[in-house]
Amino acid sequence: PTMAQSKSLLVLENFIGGKFVPCSSYIDSYNPSTGDVYCKVPDSGKEEVEAAVKAAKDAFPVWSSKSPLERSQILNKLADLIEQDLEAFAQAESKDQGKTITFARTVDIPRAVYNFRFFASSILHHVTECTEMATMGCVHYTSRTPVGVAGLISPWNLPLYLLTWKIAPAIACGNTVVAKPSEMTSVTAWMMCKLLEKAGVPHGVVNVVFGTGAKAGEALVCHPDVPLISFTGSTLTAQRITEKSAPHCKRLSLELGGKNPAIIFDDADLNQCIPTTVRSSFANQGEICLCTSRIFVQRGIYSEFLKRFVAEAKKWKTGNPSDPTVNMGALISKEHLEKVRNYVKKAQTEGAKILCGEGVDSLALPPGNQKGYFMLPTVITEVKDESCCMQEEIFGPVTCVVAFDTEEEVIKRANGVKYGLAATVWSSNVGRVHRVAHRLQSGLVWTNCWLVRDLNLPFGGMKASGIGREGAKDSYEFFTEVKTITIKH
Ligand code: NAD
Repeated sequence: PTMAQSKSLLVLENFIGGKFVPCSSYIDSYNPSTGDVYCKVPDSGKEEVEAAVKAAKDAFPVWSSKSPLERSQILNKLADLIEQDLEAFAQAESKDQGKTITFARTVDIPRAVYNFRFFASSILHHVTECTEMATMGCVHYTSRTPVGVAGLISPWNLPLYLLTWKIAPAIACGNTVVAKPSEMTSVTAWMMCKLLEKAGVPHGVVNVVFGTGAKAGEALVCHPDVPLISFTGSTLTAQRITEKSAPHCKRLSLELGGKNPAIIFDDADLNQCIPTTVRSSFANQGEICLCTSRIFVQRGIYSEFLKRFVAEAKKWKTGNPSDPTVNMGALISKEHLEKVRNYVKKAQTEGAKILCGEGVDSLALPPGNQKGYFMLPTVITEVKDESCCMQEEIFGPVTCVVAFDTEEEVIKRANGVKYGLAATVWSSNVGRVHRVAHRLQSGLVWTNCWLVRDLNLPFGGMKASGIGREGAKDSYEFFTEVKTITIKH
């Protein structure tokens, strides 16, 4: 960029011990819908992480000894402040990530607000266990205390939504945190930092260090004074984090990738199923860990489903994310777009058929978006279960549709990947729905719906999709240390 351009650029700063601190070097973060540099993100490393951990450690004694009610009131205040600025947060999230303004307004930011409200409430309602051993004259009870400085690392697809899903339970439980958002989507985390003091969050309770995974992320993972890491991101990064944290025996919560099946039986209500499955395949450009990417359709309705599904997918409007009539915005980066496109090419060379989208239909973009990272919703068929498009997480607007015959067969095929995050089952037969849901290797199963969440209940994946669960009780358990105390009278 020219000097004039760089002058108008947004320059983010780390937030350490309640103060914004500049960094010695910066990285460029792009607006995916235009291809222009949007802001400068601190390229933090060991030194910045060290300062943030120290600030978090210093703040821990006071914060951890506050009552749950005091912490709850502060979380509620923060929720109110984010909500008051909802539109500005939504605009920034859309610009930074490429997602539609509609999605940011209706999903990302409202959920970030709700994350704080939810944990502000749930922290007031936990009870610990107590048992009695009358013959020994003993009672046992458990006591839970915050762990210390929590390291929180989040991805770029739902930036503030996923970051606050970690910050809220961590601080509600009395921990202090050092968070590292994705270097590609740091703006809303920085905006949130500006509200912390007004909400009454004491200095050092929430510290945010911006930068890359390799430098800032790894420094946090390796820091001896950070006993727990909550990570959401790819399976590959999780393996690296597991290795790096092993010498310190850290507590890890890992929310990872998916290769989520939709199983559609011939008694499914297609009027409900088709629009929901288009949404579950392409919402947020297919960049949600819970997005459907393998659709198994029972043979009797296969051709009807395919015809109607493709027609519906073609109706999805791709374009300028700030246009409220647009369904799909831009993918996160040039590299990611290339990666997603390569999956489609690979499928083609293997003999699969592309029914709509990439390489088949043309995409007309407004003049300002010509350099953005857009692609159309893409439907692939005649693809083998062993194909990389059916095995690997693509994380873009690409979904595969294949036929199946029996319940037994489809369960086996749905389970035949390394991942196990989310599945959807469509049928009007209640018995079958229960049977299939029970046998799927998947942390979440939605039947006749998608993405309906009760935050009270566990969220997380099986197999390569993760370790641990998040939710009211699960996050409470993860972010606290438990002790069993026995009293003899
Ligand atoms: P990623 O693994 O590349 O990065 C995630 C975060 O980890 C980023 O902040 C990154 O900077 C950091 N990081 C990278 N290398 C690191 C290292 N060596 N040490 C410490 N931190 C490091 O993932 P991404 O591309 O940002 O996100 C997409 C992935 O996230 C997909 O696989 C998706 O399925 C997954 N995801 C999972 C869930 C879930 O809840 N299960 C939710 C959203 C996204």
